[in-house]
Amino acid sequence: MTHMDGFADERIAGYKVWRLRLPVVSRREHGIGAVDNAVEILLLELASTSGLKGYGEASPWSVFTGSAEASQAALERYMRPVVEGRRVADIAAICADAARAVAHCTEAKAALESALLDLAGRLAGVPVWALLGGKCRDEIALSVSLADPDFDADLRLLERLRDDGVGIVKMKAGFRDHRFDISRLERLRRDWPELDVRVDFNQGLTPGDAMQRVRDVAGFAPTFIEQPVTADQFSLMARIRETIGVPLLADESVFSPTDMLRAVSEGICDGVSVKIMKSGGLRRAQTIAEIAQAAGLTAYGGDMFESGMAHLAGTHMIAASPAITLGCEFYQARYYLAEDILAEAFPIRGGKVAVPGGPGLGIVPDLDKVRRFAVV
Ligand code: MG
Repeated sequence: MTHMDGFADERIAGYKVWRLRLPVVSRREHGIGAVDNAVEILLLELASTSGLKGYGEASPWSVFTGSAEASQAALERYMRPVVEGRRVADIAAICADAARAVAHCTEAKAALESALLDLAGRLAGVPVWALLGGKCRDEIALSVSLADPDFDADLRLLERLRDDGVGIVKMKAGFRDHRFDISRLERLRRDWPELDVRVDFNQGLTPGDAMQRVRDVAGFAPTFIEQPVTADQFSLMARIRETIGVPLLADESVFSPTDMLRAVSEGICDGVSVKIMKSGGLRRAQTIAEIAQAAGLTAYGGDMFESGMAHLAGTHMIAASPAITLGCEFYQARYYLAEDILAEAFPIRGGKVAVPGGPGLGIVPDLDKVRRFAVV
């Protein structure tokens, strides 16, 4: 049997879901909520008739995309019946059926498409980026987020990042008082002038205080300011954008291609954070990036609280997306999880994510670790 015979004829014979609790190294605060102790993810394993495996991760965050319980139910109860027994090659049809089988649950839908593409890539002997249109870059600049309420701990992290060649940081703001945000920016600009600094409020500001606080932050000329107000505040986003003189990015306001079209038509942003956990898959993430590019906007590759498995899916998506030009944020596997679940380290070299070249997603999970972190 040739590779292409396998791709065309193989069916999905195995479907397994783990819910994992992954310890993290520190508390992190954001405008919409804090993360502490551990994060929960779902791992989907698909097996083909001939025994090859493909993996995908759902990385929910209850205050942002949805809950681990909803992801688990979507994968185990609602999506499984439309996946089992199908031809691996029919990825678009399977994903369309899964999208109809349960509303929302975009993280679970991203896990399914990731696992299907991983499996198809392994059957065809090509990387996932080859299935998404081919590669436009070999590496992706990495941004690491500063969100520790103990800023001294973030300053120690900055020294580690400098040693590792990471040149981009995103300061999470709006979770404490304004003075805390301003004093951290003063310190970053004074002591770390070479850094590309971005600021993300994660919806943390109110209509009453947003304009002044964002203007003050814009005075430090960050590369961009992200999502200062709640996802549904489109008109306020547009008014802030008109006045600050620094690019404004939308994150929580844009989950879907439809959201992106509305964001463009209402002029709420100069760029967008593209995340497979918001869009519900890799191809829909590419669509969002292409709409943004067509409208003259920029895009970067964001993520949720993920393991290296979801980072890999995002990496392949960005590798095949010329419109995503502002780098990525796939830092958790190395800098935030106490231990990642991949069998090899998620590939970061010289402050950049190195796009894998092997079949499928390129790296498999370590199933001993998966079993050790499994909670259900
Ligand atoms: Mg964000």
